[in-house]
Amino acid sequence: MAEQAESVRVNFSDGTSMEVPKGTAVAEALAQWKRTKNTWVAARLNGKLLDLRAPIEEGGALEPLAPESPEGLEILRHSTSHIMAQAVQELFPGTKIAIGPAIENGFYYDFDPPQSFSPEDLEKIEAKMAEIIVAALPFERREMPREQAIELFRQRGETYKVELLEELTEPTVSVYRQGTFVDLCRGPHIPDTGCVKAYKLLSLAGAYWRGDERNPMLQRIYGTVFPDAKGLKKYLDFLAEAQRRDHRRLGRELDLFSFSDEVGAGMVIYHPKGALLRHILETFEKKEHLRRGYQIVMGPTLLKTDLWKRSGHFDNYRENMYFTEIEGQSYGIKPMNCLSHMLIYKSKVRSYRDLPIRYFELGTVHRHEKSGVLHGLLRVRQFTQDDAHILCTPEQLHAEIQGIVDFVIEVMGLFGFSYEMEISTRPQKSIGTDEDWERATTALMAALEDKGIPYQICEGEGAFYGPKIDVKLRDALERKWQCATIQCDFTLPERFDLTYVGPDGQRHRPVMLHRVILGAMERFLGVLIEHYAGAFPTWLAPVQAVIVTVTDKQLPFARAVYEQMKAAGVRVDLDERSEKLSFKIREAQMQKIPYMLVIGDSEVEAQAVRPRRRDGRQLEIMRPEAVIELLQKECLEGSGGRIGLGAV
Ligand SMILES: [Zn+2]
Ligand SMILES: [Zn+2]
Repeated sequence: MAEQAESVRVNFSDGTSMEVPKGTAVAEALAQWKRTKNTWVAARLNGKLLDLRAPIEEGGALEPLAPESPEGLEILRHSTSHIMAQAVQELFPGTKIAIGPAIENGFYYDFDPPQSFSPEDLEKIEAKMAEIIVAALPFERREMPREQAIELFRQRGETYKVELLEELTEPTVSVYRQGTFVDLCRGPHIPDTGCVKAYKLLSLAGAYWRGDERNPMLQRIYGTVFPDAKGLKKYLDFLAEAQRRDHRRLGRELDLFSFSDEVGAGMVIYHPKGALLRHILETFEKKEHLRRGYQIVMGPTLLKTDLWKRSGHFDNYRENMYFTEIEGQSYGIKPMNCLSHMLIYKSKVRSYRDLPIRYFELGTVHRHEKSGVLHGLLRVRQFTQDDAHILCTPEQLHAEIQGIVDFVIEVMGLFGFSYEMEISTRPQKSIGTDEDWERATTALMAALEDKGIPYQICEGEGAFYGPKIDVKLRDALERKWQCATIQCDFTLPERFDLTYVGPDGQRHRPVMLHRVILGAMERFLGVLIEHYAGAFPTWLAPVQAVIVTVTDKQLPFARAVYEQMKAAGVRVDLDERSEKLSFKIREAQMQKIPYMLVIGDSEVEAQAVRPRRRDGRQLEIMRPEAVIELLQKECLEGSGGRIGLGAV
């Protein structure tokens, strides 16, 4: 009895505090503090997350978690995965459960069902979840010895849970139960199933147990849940828009690129329009680099394995590389372009007067990505980087970094991306002197500060060989993508003994910067396709205009206009099919061609065309020369004056 009287003091965020008997439920203490109606999903006591049903065993700071808070949302999402799993097991007896975490924007659960799920099953599962939610079943936590939990899950036939439990070392584990469903889980969870208001199951996918393709293939169901219907609707609208813009779909519809099982996963096949698009981007890049004092270089794809050993790639990066043998000699396919660039640098004695040296290569590299992470153009095994290596004196470092930052800002502005910058500092395991790191990190920060660009510091996230700036761009849907990066490197100049002769006549070590602006061209193209929803600005569009006639009668004049425009460097098509005008226009719109040039009898008479934009807007009738002038103006405006008609 004496123990029951023991009380503890809990403090709340508003500065008030309260004595409660030890063992009081969290929810009860919170209810005494704030009597208003609430939707709290869990709480934090002295920084530790707790169920609202949990007893208070110690005094300290107590804070409720709303479903809108980051932790609250995660708890709501993870709890909904339990509800989905309950629905699945009730509908499909014999289904084994694997794992079901919360993820960004939702949750999933991996199942091993006796029979594969069909997309229609998702609706049934959703309906069953609604029943479970209406029943407001409590989430009950129980702690038990690990051995007992193994027995419990063995009896339930949950072999995956048994496997997980057998690998744990803790003597005690926690198990959560709601209704008929039992799961091994650390928690915390929402107090009862009734807390779930706005959810939706999204998709079905295959997933190997523990992500390993030697293991059985499980069925993963993705879903999402939000604190309210408004949040859910906003997210579903976003998903629909993302699907409309999906570069894999648009890549097919616009005939830009494809993948083939016969070729192999993660290898892009560019069709004429896709290759042309890339050619335009590459032309832009080459011009831009030459203008900024870069020299274009090219290195081989295969380099001797001994060289990869010397660079450290063999020791640190071998798993991601492909190797082959030629006449008994081992070669590695390059995953990066640095080595050739260094060999070019080393081909001569360099003086401080030669620096900075900026080598640029559209370098095609191969990296072994697991098949499970490959995703359209965004994650591939062969890709081309707009890669450059700058070798400079320590004194030049600041100006060089600033030059790259300017470059990034200008290019991102041109494509209409906003961006965020991050600086990653020295990790635990790293090489180079404190002084090197200090100087390089300061140079990176100063370059951004001088421009008034805010940045985030990612403490200890730098590469082992030096600090870096990462640029995350935001596309039209506010999604973040990693593209440009600027990395300082102290190791490679050391390992390859790169030097320059200083004003003192002595040999010094240059600093090396690795940098990309767009990053991998494949990935950037994928992002660009989604950003523009396939409707490329005139300077980038593989086909800028298509000539369509009302009837075949106007074809001779249409052909003359076609030749005239072609000669002026316009990327133009002529639709000679005997289809209805409306059909031809609709098709051109689907192909997202910027201009349709319509020719009927009156246009032939006036020796002119009637342009129509892909958004449906009609322009005044005009002579072909005027159209050429209009397109030229749009190309120059769009590319910042770099890529006019006929430039590619
Ligand atoms: Zn759980
Ligand atoms: Zn490099």
